[in-house]
Amino acid sequence: LCMTEKFEMVLSPEELRSKLPEWPYFIIDLYHWDKHTQKEKGKVCLQVSQSYGLLRDYYTGRELAVTWANDEFKRMFKGPIDRITPYAGPTAEFLKEKDIDEVVLLDPWAEEVLSEKDFDVGAFIIGGIVDTGGNKKKTTPKIGEELERAGIKVRRRKIVLKGDIVGVPDRINRILGIILKMMVEGKSMDEAVYEFQ
Ligand code: SAM
Repeated sequence: LCMTEKFEMVLSPEELRSKLPEWPYFIIDLYHWDKHTQKEKGKVCLQVSQSYGLLRDYYTGRELAVTWANDEFKRMFKGPIDRITPYAGPTAEFLKEKDIDEVVLLDPWAEEVLSEKDFDVGAFIIGGIVDTGGNKKKTTPKIGEELERAGIKVRRRKIVLKGDIVGVPDRINRILGIILKMMVEGKSMDEAVYEFQ
């Protein structure tokens, strides 16, 4: 049984929420929204919806925040906008409002691999980036630089399969799914990656 199932059998959703440790925010950062074509923007929106679906399986879905969420995103997003946490401003402002001063940025260009020790942060940040053309290379580290400029401590971490980022799916929702499998179900990184390949 996973953590939520175990509690769900006997507790109401409110009781469940009060028993579970406080959940971090999972932030999809749309800082690079304008670099996308319309078709790519549609894909970003779809992957945000799918991320909501995944998160709701484990918890409420409200922990999914989307920052730099402009009107175009809100128009194009087909999922339940009132059940996630959209934030029109910069990610750093959102974090300050929530009193979060340190985050994990999921970044395929990072030196360090994500580990259990990183599960204590207040927020995980995934780049709201879809690559179909080759114009967005190394855009994830820029999200980190932007946060550091605003005074946020950033742990850049990569997800690997047998030590390499090759073979790791790069869709936003799959990256979220891998983190959840590791964090909630206690799976190893390799196992979690295999499940989302
Ligand atoms: N073109 C971007 C770049 O070069 O930085 C990569 C975008 S990727 C399609 C979308 C997001 O998924 C990234 O911003 C990152 O947060 C996450 N991601 C993808 N692969 C990852 C990996 N192997 N490890 C950690 N995060 C990853």
